[in-house]
Amino acid sequence: MKFFLLVLLVVLFSMSAFSQPERWQQRVKYAMDVNMDVQKNRFHGKQKLEYTNNSPDTLYRVFYHLYWNAFQPNSMMDNRSRELGKTSLGKTRDGHDQLDWDGRVKDRILNLTPEEIGYQKILSFKMNGVAQNYKIEETILEVKLTKPILPKTTAVFDMDFEAQVPLQVRRSGRDNPQTGVRYSMSQWYPKMCEYDYEGWHPTPYVAREFYGIWGDYDVKISIDKTYVLGGTGYLLNAAEVGDGYETPGTKVVQPAGNLLVWHFSAPNVHDFVWAADPQYKHLVRYPVGGPVINVLYKNKSNEPRIDTLWQVLADAAVTVLPFIEKTFGRYPYKQYSFIHGGDGGMEYPMATLISGPGLGTAFHEWMHSWYQGMLGTNESLYAWMDEGFTSYATGEVEEYYYDQQLQKTPGNTALRTYVDKRKQALPLNHADAYDSYFALVKSGLQEPLTTHADHFNTNYAYGIAAYSMGEIFLDQLGYIVSTETRNKILLEYYRLWRFKHPNVADFVRVAEKVSGMQLDWYKEYWVNTTKTIDYGIDSLWEAGGKTKIRLKMAGKMPMPVDVLMTYKDGSKELAYIPQYSMFGEKPVEDKNIPRTSFEPWKWTSPTYTFEVSRRLTDLKIVEIDATQRMADVNRKNNKLELNW
Ligand SMILES: [Zn+2]
Repeated sequence: MKFFLLVLLVVLFSMSAFSQPERWQQRVKYAMDVNMDVQKNRFHGKQKLEYTNNSPDTLYRVFYHLYWNAFQPNSMMDNRSRELGKTSLGKTRDGHDQLDWDGRVKDRILNLTPEEIGYQKILSFKMNGVAQNYKIEETILEVKLTKPILPKTTAVFDMDFEAQVPLQVRRSGRDNPQTGVRYSMSQWYPKMCEYDYEGWHPTPYVAREFYGIWGDYDVKISIDKTYVLGGTGYLLNAAEVGDGYETPGTKVVQPAGNLLVWHFSAPNVHDFVWAADPQYKHLVRYPVGGPVINVLYKNKSNEPRIDTLWQVLADAAVTVLPFIEKTFGRYPYKQYSFIHGGDGGMEYPMATLISGPGLGTAFHEWMHSWYQGMLGTNESLYAWMDEGFTSYATGEVEEYYYDQQLQKTPGNTALRTYVDKRKQALPLNHADAYDSYFALVKSGLQEPLTTHADHFNTNYAYGIAAYSMGEIFLDQLGYIVSTETRNKILLEYYRLWRFKHPNVADFVRVAEKVSGMQLDWYKEYWVNTTKTIDYGIDSLWEAGGKTKIRLKMAGKMPMPVDVLMTYKDGSKELAYIPQYSMFGEKPVEDKNIPRTSFEPWKWTSPTYTFEVSRRLTDLKIVEIDATQRMADVNRKNNKLELNW
């Protein structure tokens, strides 16, 4: 019994030390029936939503997103876009103002005709069978409930709605001018806003970023039989739909009539997307032990070259899957679909809409299944944790992919040339993110990462903050805690926070626990401020046969400092100076280079002097951060070459 108790205690202890963090979150269960009219580009929908209030709060009202109401002249999205179109980012080479438009939106919404606008109209709305009064403010529906929803109870909402598919402007819509795809159906249904520990998030659809409640979706779409669909979830009636979804070798029997119902089920996701076109071609891949990979694309010009590119994409997805799962965690769903549509690329659970077969975009959108699809941050508040982490992962996946391809086909000279060119342009993975960030700092337009995605003054500053600074956050974290530890942090973050809504503090806490270092300062400087890093070599001198090296901190953000010394005899030595606030040291990263750890540098001191045992005349190169993973805005003073 004692023994048993001891075992039990050990088990309980380890569970509490490693179990998932406790934080309540709401839960949804959507059942939707949609009748699509492909002539009028409208559909009627019935939605039953079981909403479980897991919060400790009584809810007196609820909010829904009605995203498509943004695609109407003078909407917030339209006004915002046209205002940003007046903002100049500077002059182009030929003397024109470089305007801050989102090239996809511009003033296109203002010019939509009544047949081309989008809308979502509510025809009836009930809670637990009782009709409710509601108010629509453009893209947000507000309902003051006749009876509140008590903590730990479930309410059932029934809704009838009607929607018109807008001419494709941004992400969703019909008759995409770029791809010719008929329907890109994202943000297409009235979607309950998320309520979390920070309260409601009725974020109007102005430009960007999403946040949804975890739950299960059951969606039936009735549409003209000639259409082929792709989307989130599993097709439950593949045997009567066919179109490549059927189990290979089975006979497909479609029901009579002009319409076909597509029945999808998607467990544990926070959104649902679909797309439809009569000319979609469907490629399928079955990686061993992995999800089914669906690729749906339209080849308007019927060029064989285009078919090849989409086949390359399907095969590439299979190639990179083992690497992705090893590095970022297992893909938990049974399918993933790359679907032609949208604009550029946009991520959704189990699917992406991409406007072409480019591998960089495809990898990026797929990696969003991790950073957004599973690690569902509130993107409006932490766009950089979704876009930036994804951009970081994309760089890693691309590097792996091209290495693999070269190993598989060493004689492929075209590939070799392509990879060499990439390496020339980007000798270090993620270097482009640093360059973009340095340019942003120079422009004076930088705003802190804590800025709400829609509230940045410019599209430009948002873009670099979300994508490049988020990417650097992880690459630079590798510099602070070591590459190996950073990789462990990513896997632990995935393990602890998947299917939840992590915020920046949650990520940093995981990083602290895995690394054994304090990292709150990293968040406080890099995320909460626009302070920059600038370390430099100040001076060197010899005293008593040894070399003294003085460094200066010219920036406002402190960092640990790696200083690599290369001696005339070819030998190298690394001086490692931890940042005081870390209360820890990173492990040795390169075992081939002897490392000496020095006393931590307190950020209140503008200079720091350390000593190496060799003579000054033995030294050839002294370099701060030779691996270039520190976002030092002035790298000119980082390296000193001595010519004796
Ligand atoms: Zn992205």
